[in-house]
Amino acid sequence: MRETRQSEQAFEKAQQLMPGGVNSPVRAFKSVDVPPVFIQKGKGSHVYDIDGNEYIDYVLGWGPLILGHANDVVIHDIQSTASLGTSFGMPTLMENQLAELVIQRVPSVEMVRFVNSGTEATMSALRLARGFTGRDKIIKLEGSYHGHDDALLVKVGSGVATLGLPDSPGVPKSTTSNTLVAPYNDLEAIQELFRKFPGEIAAVIMEPVAGNMGVIPPLKGFLEGVRTLTEKDGALLIFDEVMSGFRVGYYSAQGHYNVMPDLTCLGKVIGGGVPVGAYGGRREIMENIAPAGSVYQAGTLSGNPIAMSAGIATLSQLTEKHYAHFEALGDELEKGILSLSALFDIPITINRAGSMIGLFFNEGPVTNYQQSKASDTAFFAEYYKEMINHGILLPPSQFEGIFLSTTHTLEDVERTLDAMEASFNALRN
Ligand code: PLP
Repeated sequence: MRETRQSEQAFEKAQQLMPGGVNSPVRAFKSVDVPPVFIQKGKGSHVYDIDGNEYIDYVLGWGPLILGHANDVVIHDIQSTASLGTSFGMPTLMENQLAELVIQRVPSVEMVRFVNSGTEATMSALRLARGFTGRDKIIKLEGSYHGHDDALLVKVGSGVATLGLPDSPGVPKSTTSNTLVAPYNDLEAIQELFRKFPGEIAAVIMEPVAGNMGVIPPLKGFLEGVRTLTEKDGALLIFDEVMSGFRVGYYSAQGHYNVMPDLTCLGKVIGGGVPVGAYGGRREIMENIAPAGSVYQAGTLSGNPIAMSAGIATLSQLTEKHYAHFEALGDELEKGILSLSALFDIPITINRAGSMIGLFFNEGPVTNYQQSKASDTAFFAEYYKEMINHGILLPPSQFEGIFLSTTHTLEDVERTLDAMEASFNALRN
């Protein structure tokens, strides 16, 4: 049996010090009812906890570590940058370098502004969209997470598109009253909102591949359809690629699906595991940001040298070949999981997009939040407990995708499938 005493003691103490014992809610492992593991170190596709357990890691820091843990070049560059000073609040050459890399690789981005998190990126992109269009309303899609900005913390009513209500105490109704919500992959519902509020909607903000209700890729024609609707109405299209950026394809999701938004939000991978976010887009829009324009947005640590160096080291090591590797590993995982699903008669649906993989205990198809929510979360919690005891670290929620890194191997996949078989065996007996 896995030893967990040290992690449990550390969590006890943490709960006295920090709300829920954590600095971000999902880390408390509440939905799977397992004490969180305290991590000591990571290397490649593996992490090690303070009790000395080793895991194959599919969380990867919730997405940033596309090169795996403690990549040699990333660590070297962070160390040598830090030795010259950690923050200047003045321009550095590294900001130019990372900006150039982002502009080269994210096809619709002509100019970029660095911030410190994905939340800041989406929040600032919305302000810019509103400032640029002079409109207040926005559309977000049900089940999408864009960070914890007030205006976007709206989970929604059910069924058809509806006016959003705040999803958390502390968010004033007035802040979300301009947030409209439509189901993912439902073009008709978005069209209806444009019919109802012509000329009033500043932007549609969406994940081009949804990653926060499990992984849900866009149905054929959906992204193109939203692009056409926004263009016709004079609204902006914002792709939140904080998760999908550099994960779905070498040129991010927009390059992969060949649909160009007006603005793009980035985070995770572009910081290589150090806090960073960015938003970028067409020059004509971006030049409205202060000091070039009048839409205000700023940050003491924005463009921080350590974050820039980790981002440069990460993006410059990624090659197109890596995406073939993700595809090959994803294929193997999917094949193996589906055959276990048949063998044990456990309904499973797999959705994949590049290095993002969603596994739902659900007959499928899973193309929107309602279908995702119909998954068997109780079974997921049991499965989770088995898998972690077999040395597989998954995100502790049915509604999170798993991530692959360039360091995951076929052997990791085989070990994962073996663990899954053992887990299903234990749960079926
Ligand atoms: N947007 C998307 C699509 C995300 O997945 C996340 C975080 O998971 C965010 C925004 C928020 O990013 P951060 O947690 O860096 O604020």
